[in-house]
Amino acid sequence: MNKYHHLYEQLIQHTNKDNVLVNEPIREHTYTKLGGAADFYITPSTYEEVQAIIRFANQEDVPFTMLGNGSNLIVKDGGIRGIVMNLQQLSSIWREGDKVISQSGARIIDASRFALNEELAGLEFACGIPGSVGGALYMNAGAYGGEIKDALESTIVATKDGELLTLTADQLDLSYRTSNIPDNGYIVLEATFALKSGNKEEIKEMMDDLTYKRESKQPLEYPSCGSVFKRPPGFFAGKLIQDCNLQGKQIGGAEVSTKHAGFIVNKSNATASEYISLIQFVQATVKERFDVQLEREVRIIGDDVEG
Ligand SMILES: Cc1cc2nc3c(=O)[nH]c(=O)nc-3n(C[C@H](O)[C@H](O)[C@H](O)COP(=O)(O)OP(=O)(O)OC[C@H]3O[C@@H](n4cnc5c(N)ncnc54)[C@H](O)[C@@H]3O)c2cc1C
Repeated sequence: MNKYHHLYEQLIQHTNKDNVLVNEPIREHTYTKLGGAADFYITPSTYEEVQAIIRFANQEDVPFTMLGNGSNLIVKDGGIRGIVMNLQQLSSIWREGDKVISQSGARIIDASRFALNEELAGLEFACGIPGSVGGALYMNAGAYGGEIKDALESTIVATKDGELLTLTADQLDLSYRTSNIPDNGYIVLEATFALKSGNKEEIKEMMDDLTYKRESKQPLEYPSCGSVFKRPPGFFAGKLIQDCNLQGKQIGGAEVSTKHAGFIVNKSNATASEYISLIQFVQATVKERFDVQLEREVRIIGDDVEG
């Protein structure tokens, strides 16, 4: 039984009972297939429920964690205490003029495909990024020369106190794989992308080209968190790792991908602890050989196994 179990009856006053899972294995919700259980895994279906749950967590002093599509996270083997909130039920996407508006639980891939079908250009770069719209804003996701910053006009967020705010893109301080969302503790609820009317064939051609590049270079056949490291100024993380002959290096079930050195894959039932040890081994090796400190792009959260 988890430490917060006694709060269950109160928690289900704030959202439908079916939206609250207890002791939910988080590995089912992460791309790496790693991680222990979340005490409560909650998928609210309205913004009001999101606000009520934030306020409840504050009032009862329960730890609170946002989880998007789990494609840029490693959750440790001991799992996550308190409430984990996921907005998969808030995933509508619609058009207003040349803008695409998406709730944050939608996949950014789906927002990109929606724009294609509406013949709107500007979200092609996102066609293969497996995160949610909320997760994409959080880290200003980008690929092949494009990033969220280029397309985002404004966003609706919930604050740490559960208030709703509308912010312009500028107010998020978006830059290379960062924003001020973590510092402010914002929960992204909705994003408005300002796009341009385009030619459907051309938009599709670009998306097909990017998909081909991604599929031919990335080890998409194994669970992973994508690129583990940010691009160090003046270098490429993958090249440094390759030059250290680390491709194929394994710790337990985790392996530095033989297809793309910037990826670590969960090849055979790795634990989070093995995966993290391999990340640290790569960082130490590259530091020793090239005196370059690789900074993680992927976030590590949760608890170690007790004892
Ligand atoms: C195979 C593969 C390829 C990838 N390719 C790319 C790529 O080309 N470019 C790129 O930029 N990234 C890439 N990624 C990484 C990942 O897809 C992006 O970082 C994505 O933006 C993460 O979104 P997510 O919903 O999965 O977030 P999660 O991993 O679930 O969470 C990441 C962080 O975002 C926070 N968060 C999530 N949703 C919200 C919300 N609604 N409000 C506030 N905070 C929130 C979480 O609390 C967490 O701190 C790749 C990953 C994989 C596995």
